[in-house]
Amino acid sequence: MCSACHARRDWLLINQGRDVWVCCRCSNQWLEPEINRADFDAFIAIPDRTTFPSVEQGLAALGFDGAFAGTYLE
Ligand SMILES: [Zn+2]
Repeated sequence: MCSACHARRDWLLINQGRDVWVCCRCSNQWLEPEINRADFDAFIAIPDRTTFPSVEQGLAALGFDGAFAGTYLE
């Protein structure tokens, strides 16, 4: 659960090196030590992988910059 807004889903996972970060729609981010990069690559299929120039640009493009805080997008 997000410690800032208490959302329980609709998160973005950010791969950075060997770590996986979780980003909530409210823009809160935290390192998720129970998911490592190897786990992520083994269990999650990404049909159209997109690489953004920076994390900030990716967050804004995908709606995780706080603009949809408090909203679940289906
Ligand atoms: Zn949140």
